Amino acid sequence: MTACRTGQRYDISAGFRGCRARWLPPCRGGPQGQARAASLSARVAVLSLAAPLVPRPRAPRPGDYRVRVLRSPLPPGSRTPTSGHAGHEPDLDELVERTVGWFATARRDLPWRAADRTPWGVLVSEVMLQQTPVVRVEPAWRAWMERWPTPAHLAAASTADVLRAWDRLGYPRRALRLQECARAVVERHGGAVPDDEEALRALPGIGEYTAAAVRAFAFGRRSVVVDTNVRRVLARTITGAALPAPSPTAAERAVAAAVVPDGDADAAAWAAASMELGALVCTARSPHCLTDPGACPVADLCAWRAAGYPADEHAHRRRAQSWHGTDRQCRGRIMAVLRTAPGPVGRVALDAALATEPDDPQVTRCLGGLVEDGLVEQDDAGAYRLPED
Ligand code: SF4
Repeated sequence: MTACRTGQRYDISAGFRGCRARWLPPCRGGPQGQARAASLSARVAVLSLAAPLVPRPRAPRPGDYRVRVLRSPLPPGSRTPTSGHAGHEPDLDELVERTVGWFATARRDLPWRAADRTPWGVLVSEVMLQQTPVVRVEPAWRAWMERWPTPAHLAAASTADVLRAWDRLGYPRRALRLQECARAVVERHGGAVPDDEEALRALPGIGEYTAAAVRAFAFGRRSVVVDTNVRRVLARTITGAALPAPSPTAAERAVAAAVVPDGDADAAAWAAASMELGALVCTARSPHCLTDPGACPVADLCAWRAAGYPADEHAHRRRAQSWHGTDRQCRGRIMAVLRTAPGPVGRVALDAALATEPDDPQVTRCLGGLVEDGLVEQDDAGAYRLPED
C-alpha cells in the first residue's frame, strides 16, 4: 500500500497505475475511486457540449469522469508511428477518457458553448473560427448574434452591412458565404439549421469540417471533427510525429475516425476536448509538456514525447506565410477603406487613402480580385463601394 499526493491509500498490485490526481479521481483504482466512477451517461450529462442544447446540471467535480469508450479498431498500420517510437501502442480509451476529463475543468467558457447556444450560433462561430483566433472572434460573434440571431435575420440584411460587421476578422469571402448560407437555410430548411451532415455540406461555405463540427457541437451527434488542433494532437499522441503532413491524408482521416467513440455524446465530448487540448496545451510551437509534463493529461500516453520529440519530417514542405506587402494585406487595406467610407470611393481618393502611388499595379490587381469575388462593386461613375444588396 502507498499513498497518492491527495493522501489516499491504494494498492498498486490491484492494477492502479499511478496517481493522476490533476485529471482524474485521485485514486480511481482504489475503493473510493471505483465508487465514484461515473457511468458514461452521467459523465455526458456533466459536459454541456456532449448533450444537445440542454442546461448543464451542475459544475463538474473531480470524480465525474470515468468513461467506457466504444469504438471501431484503429486501421491496420496506424499503430506503427511514422517516426521515432517504434512499437508504441496507443491506449485509445485512456486517451479519450483523460482528454475529456481534463476538458471538463480546463475548458474555456465561450459563448458558443453556453447551454443556451443555438445551432445557428454554433455555425457562425465555426465559420468565424476557421481562420481567426478565438480572442478576435468572441467580441465579433457576440455583436453578430445580437444583430442577426437567426439565419432569417442575416438573410434579410444588406451585404454591405454584413461586410462592415465582419470588420477585421479577415478573409471576408467567409462573410459572403455565411450570408448565402443563411439564405439557403431559410429557403431549403425553413430557417432551421439542419442536423444532417449531407444537408449541412450542401449549404454554401460549409465544408467537411464545419458540417462535422456543427453536428457535434450544436446537436451532440457523432461526427469526425478534425481541425488543425486535432490533427496535431493525433499526430503526436498516436503516430509519434511532431506535426501532421501539410495536407490531410487518407491514413490520417482513418486514424481520426477510429479514435472517435461510437456513441453520439461520447464522440461530441471527444471532439470538443481534443480541439481544446490542441489549442491550449499541445500547441504547435511550444507544447506545454516541454516545460511541465503535468500540464498535459495524456503526457505518458504520447508517442511523440516517448520517442524523444523527433523533428518535423515535413518541415521542408511547409511554406512560411508572409503578410507584409502581400496581396492579402493590400486587399485588407482596401476593404478597410471601403468599410468606413461614407460613400463610393474613386480611384484617386482610394490611392490617397492607401498612401500608394497613383494607379499602383498591386492596388489595381487587388481591386479586380475583390470585384470578381463579389466583395466590392463599381458604381456607374467607376467609384468603388461595398455591394449594396
Ligand atoms: S505530451 Fe506534449 S506533445 Fe504529447 S499531447 Fe501532451 S502536450 Fe502534446
